[in-house]
Amino acid sequence: MAAMRLVILGRQGSGKSTQSARLVDAYGIVHISTGDMLRSAVVAGSDLGRQARARVDAGELVSDEIMIGIVTERLAEADVVEHGFLLDGFPRTPAQAEALEDILGAAGSVLGGALNLEVPVDVVTGRMVARGRVDDTEEAISRRLGLYESETAPLLAWFEERGLLTVVDGQGAEDEVFSRLCVALDGAVLDGSVS
Ligand code: AMP
Repeated sequence: MAAMRLVILGRQGSGKSTQSARLVDAYGIVHISTGDMLRSAVVAGSDLGRQARARVDAGELVSDEIMIGIVTERLAEADVVEHGFLLDGFPRTPAQAEALEDILGAAGSVLGGALNLEVPVDVVTGRMVARGRVDDTEEAISRRLGLYESETAPLLAWFEERGLLTVVDGQGAEDEVFSRLCVALDGAVLDGSVS
């Protein structure tokens, strides 16, 4: 089987990171979390970290230009090219989605699919307050969820139009959700839409 190239979408607090970690283990692909990359850059105090810090802390989106630059570099690295990837946190805007299509197209490949982990707003808000991350102030949470609805939710239609979207119910026990994701992926692999 050729390397799988996937995107996982879902509101912040939908369990995306946890499920992504399990999926990459199970399918032998590389986890690319743009949120983790930015948080590491902030901690390391790199140029990127200095540029992104205020926006990450405030729960605002980092510019498309910066994000597309980071992801373009990461997708060109050998581990990703060889093993495939699960992109978590990118694309977040239509411009980022178009850029992803272009980056892959330039490398002669295509996206295999996009999984949307669906969890309602009231449920994710409760989960985020409980996890207590530094950038999880109540104000930042509500800003991020608002941005998700305005900027990121339209991407669902974008992926749907391309026949790439699979919606998976993200509520319930972690193991149950993971099984649903695997069933969705295995189905997509079998019918040839993920390659
Ligand atoms: P996440 O861990 O995916 O929730 O990302 C944490 C923060 O990093 C977000 O609130 C944004 O400030 C920033 N971020 C991560 N990915 C992106 C992206 N694709 N576009 C813009 N900002 C991003």
